[in-house]
Formats: sequence, C-alpha cells, structure tokens
Amino acid sequence: MRPFKYVRASDAGTAAGAVAANPLAKFLAGGTNILDLMKEDVERPNELVDVTRLKLSEIRQTSGGVSIGALATNTDTANHPLIRNNYPLLTQAIVAGASAQLRNMATNGGNLLQRTRCQYFYDTAMPCNKREPGTGCGAREGLNRIHAIFGWSEKCVATYPGDMANALYALDAVVRVSGAGGRERTIPVNDFHRLPGDTPEKDTNLQHGELIVAIELPKSNFAKNSYYLKVRDRASYAFALVAVAAALELDGGTIRQARVVLGGVAHKPWRSQEAEAALTGKPASEESFRRAAEAALEDAKPLAHNTYKVELGKRAIVRALMRAGRLA
Ligand SMILES: Cc1cc2nc3c(=O)[nH]c(=O)nc-3n(C[C@H](O)[C@H](O)[C@H](O)COP(=O)(O)OP(=O)(O)OC[C@H]3O[C@@H](n4cnc5c(N)ncnc54)[C@H](O)[C@@H]3O)c2cc1C
Ligand code: SF4
Repeated sequence: MRPFKYVRASDAGTAAGAVAANPLAKFLAGGTNILDLMKEDVERPNELVDVTRLKLSEIRQTSGGVSIGALATNTDTANHPLIRNNYPLLTQAIVAGASAQLRNMATNGGNLLQRTRCQYFYDTAMPCNKREPGTGCGAREGLNRIHAIFGWSEKCVATYPGDMANALYALDAVVRVSGAGGRERTIPVNDFHRLPGDTPEKDTNLQHGELIVAIELPKSNFAKNSYYLKVRDRASYAFALVAVAAALELDGGTIRQARVVLGGVAHKPWRSQEAEAALTGKPASEESFRRAAEAALEDAKPLAHNTYKVELGKRAIVRALMRAGRLA
C-alpha cells in the first residue's frame, strides 16, 4: 500500500473542504471498498479524510417520508423499523448484499459509491479505461460474462455491482450532498450514477469533494407489493449476475403503477420504463408480467459471453413480479 495522509473531519463542511482542496484526496467511511482498492493499487489517494465520526447516521421520519443518514450502516438501515415497515424492498436489497460482517461496517454513502467488480479493473497489469483512461478496455474483447447488456460503450462495458441502489431507484430516492463550506444540493438517485460513454472513469455525477450526507425516501405506496430478487453464481455472498427490484401499487387486481429496476446489467441501476409502461393499467397476472419482461429486455445488447443475461433477466423479472404481486 502506498503512503497516505490520514485526517479526521469534525463536520461535513470541513470534510468536504479538505477533499475539495486536494484532487488526490478521498473520503473514508466503512473502508470496505476503498481500502481493498488501495491494497490492490487500483486507487491511489494520497490523503484519506475519515468521516466516520460525523453525526450523519440518523434514520428519521420527515414530513415527506424518511431520511437515512449517509453514515448509517447497512445493517442498521435494513433493520430499522421505519425501513422494514415502509420500505421492505430496501431492507431486502440491503440484506441481499455482501455478508453480515461487511454490512455491519458498510455505510449507505459508501455503498452507493462502491466501484465495479470488473476483473480487469482490479488487475493493474491489464488495460482498463476506468482505472487508467486511454489504455483500452480489457473486457470488451476479453471475458465479459459478468458485464453489461444495456447502456455500455466501446470504452467500458462494466456493471455497477451494488444491491441497495437498485431498491433506491425503484423508490424514487433523492441523494443529499454537501460541498465545501456546507453548501447542500440534492440529486435524484436516477441521475446519480452515470453511463460510461467516453468517460468511464466517472462513476457518478458527484463533484470531487462533495460529501453524501443523507438519502431521502419519499412516502411510498409500494410497501405491500414489492420484492427484491438477486441471481448470483452461489448462494453465499456474491455480486448479482442479474437482480430485480420490483414494486407494484395495486388497485384491486389492477396495476396502478409499477417499478422495475434491473441490477447487474448496466453501469448504473437500469430502470425499465418499457416494463413499467407495459404493466400500468394491466391486471396483475403472470401474462402481464411476461409481456413486461419481454419489453424490458427487447433492446438488450449482450456481449460475447453474457447472452444468457437476456433470458435470465426475463425470468427474473417475471419471478420478482409474481412475488411482489403475491401470486407466487
Ligand atoms: C467481499 C465483498 C462482497 C460484497 N458484496 C456486495 C454485494 O453483494 N452487494 C453490494 O451491494 N455490495 C457488496 N459489497 C460492497 C460493500 O457493500 C461496499 O464495500 C460498502 O457498502 C462500501 O461502504 P463503505 O462505508 O465501506 O465505503 P468505503 O469503502 O469507505 O468508501 C467507498 C467509496 O465511497 C466514498 N465515500 C464513502 N462515504 C462517502 C460519503 N458519505 N460521501 C462521499 N463519498 C463517500 C469513499 O471515498 C470511497 O470512494 C461487497 C464488499 C465486499 C468486500
Ligand atoms: S469494462 Fe470498464 S472497468 Fe472493465 S476493463 Fe473495460 S473499461 Fe475497465
């Protein structure tokens, strides 16, 4: 590991200011991703600003819904009664991720910002435009079984690996961030992560030095009919090959509105407007769910080794919607 300066921040504005002042500085939260990447020599910050002592771990009711502190751990968030009762989809998605030990350390802010698990990104002997812009993409012509089928570019075909964010996209969450001097702004979670385009080194629309302080969840009508399904290579902890965050608002047997967000298929959680449109106003039935799944995967562009994700994605959508609609 390369030497780095360690700084402990006393408030959000100072933390943001310290990182903003140094292009090579990074925040340190639970450390479960950034420290691994530093040990692998993939990330090379010369300064870590430790934010773990900041008072940003509260989970509380607000007039518009629920606010989740960026430094609340994944475990505390998943287990909190406000989340379990009002947003069970989020609890399921968090619990599907990592292991109990990791979730005890991992924070919500860090989870949103976890980096891809593309093997070439981790292997510093291989070309990777995300790690070193301009070197090429090892996965484009290499082994790309776990990679994207939507939204990829010739520069990068990586996927975003997280689970929690898939539920946050389905729940229309908003990310609150603080810049240097405590200036705050909000980013709808749908605009938080980026597609790779020509700049795959940029995972999100956060500015350097902006600190995530909270995730705001609006009131939701999906609590009764939602389900998070994660398909992976093994039952113990592993990243999603395909995941589905499915949520339905039902009026009797009719779907008033729906959310279908796919994980493991793109550089960001992939909200399928096509599936949602196909479901709205239709009966909650297996037939409707199959049509929605066909619509969701119609424009998929698989790579050499991940064609299987198209059929897997369809089946996962149908199964997740059957569970959400309590038909299975
Ligand atoms: C073996 C293993 C298996 C895993 N499996 C899964 C899985 O199946 N599903 C899943 O979703 N995740 C999985 N994870 C990822 C894990 O959930 C993340 O590593 C964790 O959530 C990151 O949170 P952290 O607090 O440790 O972040 P850190 O490692 O401290 O930080 C991660 C990044 O976020 C930045 N950062 C942290 N907090 C903030 C903030 N408040 N504002 C701005 N920037 C910030 C840091 O600078 C860094 O760049 C796994 C991890 C491991 C090691
Ligand atoms: S897919 Fe993206 S992360 Fe993976 S090697 Fe290509 S550029 Fe790097």
